[in-house]
Amino acid sequence: KIQIAERVACLSESATLEMAAKARELERQGIEVIKLSLGEPDFYTPDHIKEAAKKAIDDNFSFYTPVPAYLELREAIAEKLRKENSLPAKAEQVVVTTGAKQALMNAILCLVNPGDEVVVFSPYWVSYLAMIELAEGKPVFLHGDINNQFKVSPGQLRAALNNKTKVVLYSSPSNPTGTVYSKEELRAFADVLQDYPNVIVISDEIYEYINFTGEYFSIGAFEDMHERVVTVNGFSKGFAMTGWRVGYLHAPAPIAKACIKLQGQFTSATCSIAQKAAHAAITGDRAPIHAMRQAFQRRRDLVLNLLKDIPGVGTYVPQGAFYIFPDVSSYFGKSYQGKTIANAHDLCMYLLNEAHVALVAGDAFGAPNCIRISFAASDEALTEALKRIKEKLALLQ
Ligand code: PLP
Repeated sequence: KIQIAERVACLSESATLEMAAKARELERQGIEVIKLSLGEPDFYTPDHIKEAAKKAIDDNFSFYTPVPAYLELREAIAEKLRKENSLPAKAEQVVVTTGAKQALMNAILCLVNPGDEVVVFSPYWVSYLAMIELAEGKPVFLHGDINNQFKVSPGQLRAALNNKTKVVLYSSPSNPTGTVYSKEELRAFADVLQDYPNVIVISDEIYEYINFTGEYFSIGAFEDMHERVVTVNGFSKGFAMTGWRVGYLHAPAPIAKACIKLQGQFTSATCSIAQKAAHAAITGDRAPIHAMRQAFQRRRDLVLNLLKDIPGVGTYVPQGAFYIFPDVSSYFGKSYQGKTIANAHDLCMYLLNEAHVALVAGDAFGAPNCIRISFAASDEALTEALKRIKEKLALLQ
């Protein structure tokens, strides 16, 4: 009998992927499902990026590159971080990874010893928990309230920190809530962290470019945080490049070195062709990126307006990313054809089976009263999906 190792056997399956699999099952039966469950832009990669990849193939850029990527790309990323994020970035502190996911996993594996505490702002992205579990760390969740845009307070952070805390981890803009922390709010967190100088912050900035507030701030830009922040970012979301698998981290030199050592034994560098594409993306025209952000903002407004018309759904205004995470707990305990909707998972299954709309239950994100709706879909699909959701919710008694 084959026995899978504990570390993997115990790992929870990605909830977003589970929903996608169920949606595909319905589609095989010929049912058209509107998928608002996935975390990727519905746009194509901009042309100038695709051209750079085609050229890289023709130029035979087909060999192993250095583990943290070829120098030109690391330099371009360092320049971006200096210019746009005010980080004192040097190329040797930049490690290019196979998606931001690997950057996060690298950083967590390099920092967290078994039993170390990792403070996570909640609702949180599903994979954070699995990554902490793989490192045998102990997650400590700080819950943000929907009435305050799911924001965690400096007081909550202070109460959670102790001498076992190793890392504080959050995403801003957040998946699943779209919450964006301002410079002042991040300053307040940095002030709290002054009393815990050994704690490292991992700041996941993958949705940086999908931000509707008009300004963006990286906590690593504060002078007193320079040596204690791992900044994670990548190309998947902002540049519509999810499948290319390029992310990166910027970290204090000893952490960057450790990540390179780990990655060198694990995956080596990411794809050489994708590196060339990423270089074109980061040095190239940002107009397509701004156009995508505007489209996401328009769709957010569309979804918010439609949600306002649905009784019993608690909303707020997401400031970034392409998700809204409404509270639907007023429907729990209601039933349809004798079947009771006990929780967000039941509600999502009901909406998938009856409205043919795929969403994700909030449980996996640490918020069991909520569901995640992705608005990375066309205006028509969003309008139709919200119409169907409204109709089917009205049938619950
Ligand atoms: N961080 C957050 C908050 C995400 O939502 C995602 C993707 O869903 C990632 C990181 C990983 O992105 P990548 O595709 O670059 O691995």
